[in-house]
Amino acid sequence: MPKKPQGSRSVAAMTEITQGVGAGRYAPSPSGDLHIGNLRTAVLAWVFARAEGKRFVLRVEDLDRVKEGAAQRQLTDLAQIGLDWDPPVLLQSERQEVHRAAVVDLSERGLTYECYCTRREIQAEIAAAGGAPHGAPGAYPGTCRNLTAQQREQRRRDRPPAIRLRAQAETATVTDRLAGEVTEAVDDMVLLRNDGRPAYNLAVVLDDTFQGVDQVVRADDLLSSAPRQAHLAHLLGLVQVKYIHVPLVLNTSGQRLAKRDGAVTLGDLRAAGHTTAEVMEWMGRSLGLPSQVACAQDVLDQHTHLRLTDGPWTFTPPSTSSTQPTGP
Ligand code: GLU
Repeated sequence: MPKKPQGSRSVAAMTEITQGVGAGRYAPSPSGDLHIGNLRTAVLAWVFARAEGKRFVLRVEDLDRVKEGAAQRQLTDLAQIGLDWDPPVLLQSERQEVHRAAVVDLSERGLTYECYCTRREIQAEIAAAGGAPHGAPGAYPGTCRNLTAQQREQRRRDRPPAIRLRAQAETATVTDRLAGEVTEAVDDMVLLRNDGRPAYNLAVVLDDTFQGVDQVVRADDLLSSAPRQAHLAHLLGLVQVKYIHVPLVLNTSGQRLAKRDGAVTLGDLRAAGHTTAEVMEWMGRSLGLPSQVACAQDVLDQHTHLRLTDGPWTFTPPSTSSTQPTGP
Protein backbone atom coordinates (compact mmCIF):
# COMPACT_ATOMS: atom_id res chain seq x y z
CA MET A 1 0.00 0.00 0.00
CA PRO A 2 1.44 3.43 -0.87
CA LYS A 3 2.25 5.81 1.95
CA LYS A 4 -0.60 7.76 3.49
CA PRO A 5 -0.89 10.94 1.42
CA GLN A 6 0.08 14.24 2.92
CA GLY A 7 -2.63 16.70 3.76
CA SER A 8 -5.21 14.03 4.45
CA ARG A 9 -5.34 14.90 8.13
CA SER A 10 -7.73 17.80 7.82
CA VAL A 11 -10.40 15.60 6.22
CA ALA A 12 -9.96 12.82 8.74
CA ALA A 13 -10.35 15.46 11.46
CA MET A 14 -13.68 16.54 9.97
CA THR A 15 -15.03 13.08 10.50
CA GLU A 16 -16.02 11.48 13.73
CA ILE A 17 -14.20 8.20 13.54
CA THR A 18 -15.76 5.93 16.09
CA GLN A 19 -13.06 3.70 17.46
CA GLY A 20 -13.60 0.25 18.84
CA VAL A 21 -15.98 -2.33 17.57
CA GLY A 22 -16.71 -0.62 14.25
CA ALA A 23 -20.00 -0.71 12.44
CA GLY A 24 -21.83 -2.26 9.56
CA ARG A 25 -24.35 -0.25 7.61
CA TYR A 26 -27.22 -0.23 5.16
CA ALA A 27 -27.42 2.77 2.87
CA PRO A 28 -30.56 2.73 0.71
CA SER A 29 -31.43 5.38 -1.85
CA PRO A 30 -34.94 6.65 -1.08
CA SER A 31 -36.11 6.31 -4.67
CA GLY A 32 -38.96 3.93 -3.84
CA ASP A 33 -40.00 1.14 -1.51
CA LEU A 34 -37.48 -1.62 -0.73
CA HIS A 35 -38.09 -4.87 -2.61
CA ILE A 36 -37.29 -8.34 -1.36
CA GLY A 37 -33.81 -8.13 -2.90
CA ASN A 38 -33.03 -4.91 -1.02
CA LEU A 39 -34.48 -6.40 2.16
CA ARG A 40 -32.32 -9.50 1.79
CA THR A 41 -29.19 -7.35 1.42
CA ALA A 42 -30.22 -5.28 4.47
CA VAL A 43 -30.74 -8.42 6.56
CA LEU A 44 -27.32 -9.74 5.54
CA ALA A 45 -25.66 -6.40 6.38
CA TRP A 46 -27.31 -6.47 9.80
CA VAL A 47 -26.44 -10.12 10.40
CA PHE A 48 -22.74 -9.70 9.45
CA ALA A 49 -22.46 -6.65 11.72
CA ARG A 50 -24.28 -8.09 14.71
CA ALA A 51 -22.53 -11.47 14.40
CA GLU A 52 -19.25 -9.60 14.96
CA GLY A 53 -20.69 -7.47 17.78
CA LYS A 54 -20.55 -4.34 15.64
CA ARG A 55 -22.84 -1.36 15.71
CA PHE A 56 -25.26 -1.14 12.78
CA VAL A 57 -26.11 2.20 11.22
CA LEU A 58 -28.43 3.42 8.50
CA ARG A 59 -27.84 6.13 5.96
CA VAL A 60 -30.42 7.60 3.62
CA GLU A 61 -28.55 8.28 0.37
CA ASP A 62 -30.71 11.15 -0.78
CA LEU A 63 -28.36 13.03 -3.08
CA ASP A 64 -30.14 11.65 -6.15
CA ARG A 65 -33.70 10.64 -6.84
CA VAL A 66 -35.92 11.03 -3.80
CA LYS A 67 -39.47 9.78 -3.71
CA GLU A 68 -41.70 11.53 -1.23
CA GLY A 69 -42.22 9.36 1.88
CA ALA A 70 -39.98 6.53 0.63
CA ALA A 71 -37.26 6.92 3.29
CA GLN A 72 -39.78 6.62 6.12
CA ARG A 73 -41.45 3.60 4.52
CA GLN A 74 -38.04 1.96 4.05
CA LEU A 75 -37.27 2.36 7.77
CA THR A 76 -40.70 1.00 8.69
CA ASP A 77 -40.16 -2.08 6.50
CA LEU A 78 -36.66 -2.67 7.92
CA ALA A 79 -38.06 -2.54 11.46
CA GLN A 80 -40.91 -4.82 10.39
CA ILE A 81 -38.54 -7.60 9.36
CA GLY A 82 -36.73 -7.28 12.69
CA LEU A 83 -33.74 -5.02 12.06
CA ASP A 84 -32.64 -2.56 14.70
CA TRP A 85 -30.02 0.14 14.28
CA ASP A 86 -27.93 2.60 16.21
CA PRO A 87 -29.28 6.14 15.90
CA PRO A 88 -29.15 8.62 14.36
CA VAL A 89 -30.16 7.72 10.82
CA LEU A 90 -27.84 9.85 8.69
CA LEU A 91 -29.29 11.93 5.86
CA GLN A 92 -26.56 12.15 3.25
CA SER A 93 -27.84 15.47 1.88
CA GLU A 94 -27.09 17.10 5.23
CA ARG A 95 -23.39 16.34 4.81
CA GLN A 96 -22.83 18.22 1.57
CA GLU A 97 -20.65 20.87 3.18
CA VAL A 98 -18.28 18.21 4.47
CA HIS A 99 -18.29 16.53 1.04
CA ARG A 100 -17.38 19.85 -0.60
CA ALA A 101 -14.69 20.59 1.99
CA ALA A 102 -13.03 17.28 1.14
CA VAL A 103 -12.90 18.33 -2.51
CA VAL A 104 -11.28 21.62 -1.49
CA ASP A 105 -8.71 19.58 0.43
CA LEU A 106 -8.00 17.39 -2.60
CA SER A 107 -7.87 20.45 -4.89
CA GLU A 108 -5.32 22.16 -2.67
CA ARG A 109 -3.16 19.09 -3.09
CA GLY A 110 -3.48 19.23 -6.89
CA LEU A 111 -5.65 16.11 -6.95
CA THR A 112 -8.65 17.46 -8.86
CA TYR A 113 -9.44 19.22 -12.10
CA GLU A 114 -12.42 20.87 -13.74
CA CYS A 115 -14.24 18.89 -16.42
CA TYR A 116 -16.57 20.44 -18.97
CA CYS A 117 -17.46 17.31 -20.93
CA THR A 118 -21.06 16.29 -21.51
CA ARG A 119 -21.97 12.62 -21.31
CA ARG A 120 -22.33 12.60 -25.09
CA GLU A 121 -18.87 14.11 -25.60
CA ILE A 122 -17.34 11.46 -23.36
CA GLN A 123 -19.04 8.69 -25.32
CA ALA A 124 -17.89 10.19 -28.62
CA GLU A 125 -14.32 10.47 -27.35
CA ILE A 126 -14.33 6.86 -26.15
CA ALA A 127 -15.73 5.69 -29.50
CA ALA A 128 -13.15 7.73 -31.44
CA ALA A 129 -10.33 6.28 -29.33
CA GLY A 130 -11.61 2.75 -29.97
CA GLY A 131 -12.50 2.15 -26.30
CA ALA A 132 -12.26 3.53 -22.78
CA PRO A 133 -8.93 3.68 -20.92
CA HIS A 134 -7.73 0.33 -19.54
CA GLY A 135 -10.68 -1.33 -21.32
CA ALA A 136 -12.98 -0.27 -18.47
CA PRO A 137 -16.41 0.52 -19.94
CA GLY A 138 -17.44 4.11 -19.27
CA ALA A 139 -14.07 5.11 -17.78
CA TYR A 140 -13.35 8.81 -18.34
CA PRO A 141 -10.75 9.26 -21.08
CA GLY A 142 -9.09 12.24 -19.37
CA THR A 143 -10.17 14.84 -21.95
CA CYS A 144 -10.01 17.80 -19.52
CA ARG A 145 -7.08 16.54 -17.43
CA ASN A 146 -4.43 18.81 -18.92
CA LEU A 147 -6.28 21.87 -20.15
CA THR A 148 -4.44 25.18 -19.91
CA ALA A 149 -5.81 28.01 -17.75
CA GLN A 150 -6.86 29.75 -20.95
CA GLN A 151 -8.69 26.71 -22.28
CA ARG A 152 -10.47 26.33 -18.95
CA GLU A 153 -11.50 29.97 -18.99
CA GLN A 154 -12.97 29.50 -22.43
CA ARG A 155 -14.80 26.26 -21.63
CA ARG A 156 -16.23 27.70 -18.43
CA ARG A 157 -18.21 30.11 -20.59
CA ASP A 158 -20.12 27.17 -22.15
CA ARG A 159 -21.03 25.29 -19.02
CA PRO A 160 -20.20 25.07 -15.33
CA PRO A 161 -17.55 22.44 -14.65
CA ALA A 162 -17.81 19.17 -12.78
CA ILE A 163 -14.83 18.41 -10.53
CA ARG A 164 -12.96 15.17 -11.16
CA LEU A 165 -10.33 13.33 -9.16
CA ARG A 166 -6.86 13.29 -10.66
CA ALA A 167 -6.51 9.59 -9.90
CA GLN A 168 -3.11 8.52 -8.65
CA ALA A 169 -3.27 4.93 -9.88
CA GLU A 170 -4.52 3.11 -12.96
CA THR A 171 -5.96 0.23 -10.97
CA ALA A 172 -6.77 -0.57 -7.37
CA THR A 173 -7.38 -3.84 -5.55
CA VAL A 174 -9.70 -4.71 -2.68
CA THR A 175 -10.26 -7.99 -0.90
CA ASP A 176 -13.88 -9.02 -0.69
CA ARG A 177 -14.87 -11.75 1.74
CA LEU A 178 -16.84 -13.62 -0.92
CA ALA A 179 -15.22 -12.58 -4.20
CA GLY A 180 -11.60 -12.58 -3.01
CA GLU A 181 -9.12 -10.14 -4.56
CA VAL A 182 -10.79 -7.76 -6.98
CA THR A 183 -8.75 -5.42 -9.18
CA GLU A 184 -10.47 -2.76 -11.27
CA ALA A 185 -9.45 0.28 -13.27
CA VAL A 186 -9.55 3.58 -11.39
CA ASP A 187 -10.52 6.48 -13.62
CA ASP A 188 -10.74 10.19 -12.95
CA MET A 189 -14.15 9.86 -11.27
CA VAL A 190 -16.50 12.79 -10.77
CA LEU A 191 -16.39 14.17 -7.22
CA LEU A 192 -18.73 17.14 -7.64
CA ARG A 193 -21.27 17.29 -10.42
CA ASN A 194 -21.62 20.44 -12.44
CA ASP A 195 -24.66 21.46 -10.40
CA GLY A 196 -22.40 21.37 -7.31
CA ARG A 197 -23.88 18.20 -5.85
CA PRO A 198 -21.45 15.65 -4.39
CA ALA A 199 -21.15 12.44 -6.41
CA TYR A 200 -21.92 9.03 -4.93
CA ASN A 201 -18.31 7.72 -4.83
CA LEU A 202 -17.19 10.73 -2.78
CA ALA A 203 -20.14 10.83 -0.39
CA VAL A 204 -20.05 7.10 0.29
CA VAL A 205 -16.44 6.99 1.49
CA LEU A 206 -16.69 10.16 3.59
CA ASP A 207 -19.96 9.14 5.20
CA ASP A 208 -18.88 5.56 5.92
CA THR A 209 -15.90 6.91 7.88
CA PHE A 210 -18.05 9.54 9.60
CA GLN A 211 -20.45 6.85 10.79
CA GLY A 212 -17.63 4.66 12.06
CA VAL A 213 -18.31 2.03 9.38
CA ASP A 214 -15.58 -0.52 8.84
CA GLN A 215 -17.66 -3.26 7.20
CA VAL A 216 -19.56 -2.68 3.95
CA VAL A 217 -22.10 -5.32 3.00
CA ARG A 218 -24.03 -4.54 -0.17
CA ALA A 219 -25.22 -6.17 -3.38
CA ASP A 220 -22.55 -7.38 -5.77
CA ASP A 221 -23.59 -5.04 -8.56
CA LEU A 222 -21.45 -2.51 -6.66
CA LEU A 223 -18.40 -4.79 -6.41
CA SER A 224 -16.69 -3.12 -9.38
CA SER A 225 -16.99 0.30 -7.63
CA ALA A 226 -15.18 -0.88 -4.51
CA PRO A 227 -11.57 -0.52 -5.80
CA ARG A 228 -12.09 3.06 -6.97
CA GLN A 229 -13.79 3.93 -3.68
CA ALA A 230 -10.87 2.38 -1.79
CA HIS A 231 -8.44 4.48 -3.87
CA LEU A 232 -10.37 7.66 -3.09
CA ALA A 233 -10.61 6.74 0.62
CA HIS A 234 -6.84 6.23 0.62
CA LEU A 235 -6.21 9.67 -0.91
CA LEU A 236 -8.51 11.21 1.70
CA GLY A 237 -6.83 9.36 4.56
CA LEU A 238 -10.09 7.60 5.47
CA VAL A 239 -10.79 4.20 6.96
CA GLN A 240 -10.29 1.23 4.63
CA VAL A 241 -13.41 -0.84 5.10
CA LYS A 242 -13.83 -4.61 4.78
CA TYR A 243 -16.11 -5.57 1.91
CA ILE A 244 -18.70 -8.32 1.62
CA HIS A 245 -20.60 -8.07 -1.66
CA VAL A 246 -23.59 -10.42 -1.59
CA PRO A 247 -25.43 -11.93 -4.56
CA LEU A 248 -28.21 -9.97 -6.17
CA VAL A 249 -31.81 -11.05 -6.38
CA LEU A 250 -32.95 -11.39 -9.99
CA ASN A 251 -36.31 -11.57 -11.78
CA THR A 252 -37.29 -14.53 -13.91
CA SER A 253 -35.64 -12.95 -16.98
CA GLY A 254 -32.32 -12.89 -15.18
CA GLN A 255 -32.31 -9.13 -14.61
CA ARG A 256 -31.93 -7.29 -11.36
CA LEU A 257 -35.24 -7.45 -9.50
CA ALA A 258 -37.23 -4.21 -9.79
CA LYS A 259 -40.50 -2.78 -8.67
CA ARG A 260 -42.06 -3.38 -12.12
CA ASP A 261 -41.62 -7.15 -11.64
CA GLY A 262 -44.86 -7.37 -9.67
CA ALA A 263 -45.43 -8.05 -5.97
CA VAL A 264 -41.87 -7.58 -4.72
CA THR A 265 -42.14 -5.11 -1.82
CA LEU A 266 -43.30 -6.05 1.65
CA GLY A 267 -46.41 -3.92 1.13
CA ASP A 268 -47.28 -5.57 -2.21
CA LEU A 269 -46.62 -9.04 -0.83
CA ARG A 270 -48.84 -8.39 2.18
CA ALA A 271 -51.56 -7.08 -0.11
CA ALA A 272 -51.22 -10.36 -2.03
CA GLY A 273 -51.98 -12.25 1.20
CA HIS A 274 -48.47 -13.07 2.47
CA THR A 275 -47.31 -12.33 5.99
CA THR A 276 -43.94 -10.78 6.80
CA ALA A 277 -42.93 -14.07 8.45
CA GLU A 278 -43.69 -15.92 5.21
CA VAL A 279 -41.57 -13.50 3.19
CA MET A 280 -38.74 -14.02 5.68
CA GLU A 281 -39.19 -17.77 5.36
CA TRP A 282 -38.58 -17.56 1.57
CA MET A 283 -35.57 -15.38 2.25
CA GLY A 284 -34.20 -17.87 4.76
CA ARG A 285 -34.58 -20.69 2.26
CA SER A 286 -32.80 -18.65 -0.42
CA LEU A 287 -29.87 -18.33 1.99
CA GLY A 288 -29.68 -22.07 2.55
CA LEU A 289 -30.62 -21.89 6.24
CA PRO A 290 -31.55 -25.24 7.78
CA SER A 291 -34.33 -24.06 10.12
CA GLN A 292 -37.36 -21.97 9.42
CA VAL A 293 -36.88 -18.21 9.52
CA ALA A 294 -39.56 -15.66 10.49
CA CYS A 295 -37.49 -12.56 11.25
CA ALA A 296 -33.96 -11.17 10.99
CA GLN A 297 -32.95 -12.57 14.41
CA ASP A 298 -33.65 -16.10 13.10
CA VAL A 299 -31.14 -15.46 10.30
CA LEU A 300 -28.58 -14.19 12.83
CA ASP A 301 -29.11 -17.31 14.98
CA GLN A 302 -28.18 -19.49 11.99
CA HIS A 303 -25.58 -17.23 10.40
CA THR A 304 -22.86 -19.88 10.39
CA HIS A 305 -25.01 -21.79 7.88
CA LEU A 306 -25.47 -18.89 5.43
CA ARG A 307 -24.91 -20.05 1.84
CA LEU A 308 -23.86 -17.13 -0.31
CA THR A 309 -21.76 -18.82 -2.93
CA ASP A 310 -24.55 -20.18 -5.12
CA GLY A 311 -24.93 -16.98 -7.15
CA PRO A 312 -28.05 -14.85 -7.43
CA TRP A 313 -31.48 -15.79 -6.12
CA THR A 314 -34.22 -15.73 -8.73
CA PHE A 315 -37.42 -14.49 -7.18
CA THR A 316 -40.74 -15.29 -8.79
CA PRO A 317 -43.35 -12.89 -7.45
CA PRO A 318 -46.61 -14.57 -6.45
CA SER A 319 -49.50 -13.75 -8.77
CA THR A 320 -52.17 -14.75 -6.24
CA SER A 321 -52.19 -15.45 -2.53
CA SER A 322 -52.14 -19.17 -3.26
CA THR A 323 -48.96 -19.09 -5.34
CA GLN A 324 -45.65 -19.62 -3.56
CA PRO A 325 -42.62 -17.99 -5.09
CA THR A 326 -39.94 -20.44 -6.10
CA GLY A 327 -36.39 -20.30 -4.90
CA PRO A 328 -33.36 -22.50 -4.58
N1 GLU B 1 -27.37 3.84 -2.09
C1 GLU B 1 -26.89 2.72 -2.86
C2 GLU B 1 -28.08 1.91 -3.35
O1 GLU B 1 -29.16 1.98 -2.77
C3 GLU B 1 -26.02 1.80 -2.05
C4 GLU B 1 -24.68 2.34 -1.89
C5 GLU B 1 -23.75 1.46 -1.06
O2 GLU B 1 -24.22 0.54 -0.39
O3 GLU B 1 -22.56 1.75 -1.11
O4 GLU B 1 -27.93 1.21 -4.33
